[in-house]
Amino acid sequence: MSEAEGKPVEKKGAARRKVTLDPRLAEYRGVWVFVERDAEGVHPVSWELLGAARRLADQLGTVVGAVVAGAPSEALDADSQDAIAYGADQIFVAAHPVLAGYRNEPYARVLCELVKKYKPEILLLGATSLGRDLASSVATTLETGLTADCTELAIDRESRALAATRPTFGGNLLCTILTLNYRPQMATVRPRVLPLPAKDRRRSGEIRKEEIDLCEEEIVTKLVEFLPHAGGDQVDLALAEVIVAGGKGLQTAGNFALLEELARALGGEVGATRAAVQAGWVDHQRQIGQTGKTVRPKLYIAAGISGAIQHRVGMESSNLIVAINTDPNAPIFEVAHCGIVGDAIALLPLLTRAVRGQLVVETTIPTGASASS
Ligand SMILES: Cc1cc2nc3c(=O)[nH]c(=O)nc-3n(C[C@H](O)[C@H](O)[C@H](O)COP(=O)(O)OP(=O)(O)OC[C@H]3O[C@@H](n4cnc5c(N)ncnc54)[C@H](O)[C@@H]3O)c2cc1C
Repeated sequence: MSEAEGKPVEKKGAARRKVTLDPRLAEYRGVWVFVERDAEGVHPVSWELLGAARRLADQLGTVVGAVVAGAPSEALDADSQDAIAYGADQIFVAAHPVLAGYRNEPYARVLCELVKKYKPEILLLGATSLGRDLASSVATTLETGLTADCTELAIDRESRALAATRPTFGGNLLCTILTLNYRPQMATVRPRVLPLPAKDRRRSGEIRKEEIDLCEEEIVTKLVEFLPHAGGDQVDLALAEVIVAGGKGLQTAGNFALLEELARALGGEVGATRAAVQAGWVDHQRQIGQTGKTVRPKLYIAAGISGAIQHRVGMESSNLIVAINTDPNAPIFEVAHCGIVGDAIALLPLLTRAVRGQLVVETTIPTGASASS
């Protein structure tokens, strides 16, 4: 996220825009977040979105609303309190047995009804499997615009519209999309793109329990059983605090073991570029970037990674980026906080030993290696 995140933006071409909303739509007010929950609880992207919603609402001089939906349970009450602590002013609780477990039809119906009733001007969802599924149904039902997979949200000063930025043309460009003539303005944002706001238990908010008119017989889809994906290489890169990632510069699949050792020593996870995944060196679940995961660890070590834009969009929000590359002009050094020009295959074992506290003072850095920050 850039420093400009959340600040009003002025863009070229504004003079040609139609900025007078249909009076019917001009009354829409408030920034809403759909709070996504599954069997394990609320998805953290919902809290990240509430942080962004708070900033946008403050600029617009309006309120933050959160929609909490599910089967009636104490968990919904706890989620409502958490939503207030993360920045919401109003909670719209949709509690109904039909909402036990996500299904597109009842959830889309509830969200559309609430939007028609309360008229929020902005509606944000996580760009998760559930969020993408729900957002597209809601947007088409309400006949409004949806900007998917955003990387930045701001307010357009002139039109008061949501300026939703997302990668386009294969990730080589970023475009900012404004929905000027329809309401609500909808956007999905990937997990970990936005920072998690501080949780403030002293905040207060209004909780509205909504009357929900749903009937199981009217829902075509039946949820028989929920089976979490059990096979394969289960990794949660999005939440990892340390990631040691490798690219084609590691040269062989075997050299990925060097990353694994360093990741283990640091208590982190291994990540990879698409080139390394396509070479068959590592499972696709570990791919970071535009067509992989978006990550925001405290430490990101990029070894033998050139730093193509499609990779950078997935990792450039990391707190500390350390890059190792033989090419001093590699683009990865443009986003790295600390750069080492050198052979990653020789340097990775040294770093692992250093982390384990075994590096002796006399250890020689391989010829040609230099460090900068
Ligand atoms: C639509 C689209 C989507 C994409 N999505 C993604 C995505 O999600 N994620 C992604 O990563 N890519 C993605 N890509 C691919 C991306 O454009 C790059 O091709 C890819 O990231 C390059 O991977 P790399 O850095 O491993 O390989 P390379 O670009 O080949 O870079 C290898 C680097 O290693 C360095 N090197 C070589 N030997 C050593 C050594 N011994 N020690 C240290 N450094 C060394 C080289 O100097 C070079 O900089 C996408 C592309 C497109 C078109």
